[in-house]
Amino acid sequence: MFERNENKTIQVGGQTVAPGESKWVHIAIDRLPTGTLIDIPVFVYNAKKPGPTLLVQAGLHGDEINGIEVVRRMLQNGQFKIKNGAIMAVPILNVFGFLHFSRDVPDGKDVNRSFPGSKSGSMAGRLAYHYLAEVMHQIDMAIDLHTGGAQRHNYPQTRYTAGDARSKELAMIFGAPVAFPSKLIKGSFRKAAFTLNKPVVVYEAGESMRFNEDAIAFGVAGIQNICHSLGMVPKPNDMSKREMPTRLLNRRKWLRAPTAGMFIPLVNNGDTVEKGRDLGQVSDPYAKKTKTIKSPFPGTIICINHQAVVNQGDALFHMGEWT
Ligand SMILES: [Zn+2]
Repeated sequence: MFERNENKTIQVGGQTVAPGESKWVHIAIDRLPTGTLIDIPVFVYNAKKPGPTLLVQAGLHGDEINGIEVVRRMLQNGQFKIKNGAIMAVPILNVFGFLHFSRDVPDGKDVNRSFPGSKSGSMAGRLAYHYLAEVMHQIDMAIDLHTGGAQRHNYPQTRYTAGDARSKELAMIFGAPVAFPSKLIKGSFRKAAFTLNKPVVVYEAGESMRFNEDAIAFGVAGIQNICHSLGMVPKPNDMSKREMPTRLLNRRKWLRAPTAGMFIPLVNNGDTVEKGRDLGQVSDPYAKKTKTIKSPFPGTIICINHQAVVNQGDALFHMGEWT
């Protein structure tokens, strides 16, 4: 193996970050109708000593702000100052969505279904294309930070690629309360990365447009755990979320609204429940009829929908059973 005395140079958006340097660089994407250039800011911390290059990205869905806050907080606290290797930190990947409080780009397309994208494609496809072209060949692995879509609140959890041992290993090191394998979705960043043989762990916590302190704290701790295990930092400097063992879920199920009406959950996210437990109720607004959602197996509640008025068939709880 090639032995280097110092780490490699990182190049993004025509800018160079030499070993021992740290700076903001920008990936130019497109212009707004007003002519304002839209770019993706990337913070690169390149240590002097050689080591792996880790990509930490958030805001692939523009309204999933817990991940954005995880990266912001680590920037503020200087937690990307590593001793070996390099960190590429992207607080907001989908800048368009962030501006519009939206998961998607303004034409309604989901960037996380638009990879690998194309140079002359739609806005989401272009963003995906330029991002991959600038970033992927330089990294060894990635952490992709998300939250629950709509008003679904995810209990802090990691998802790894089924059959990818390195992705599973990253999830277990991350140390979120629960972890489970999930299939590669067509057009997702994780699939594009898998094709390029770069392992990715996806962290999901909290809900869109709402800060959740636990979601943020577990995220910060998880990234530090991974940096530590990769030998990038001597020890994680936030030990507060490292005590809990990760539960590996072997079966999961979405529980849906049995009828339309008002939804009242009766359990909390992360609760352990036995089979047959009353999890929540859906009632009509006239107090005539109430239906109860019961636990189909013993397990953990890993997502609760915080929408008060629901339609029949809406996803209300996500449950997992662990080994
Ligand atoms: Zn997302």
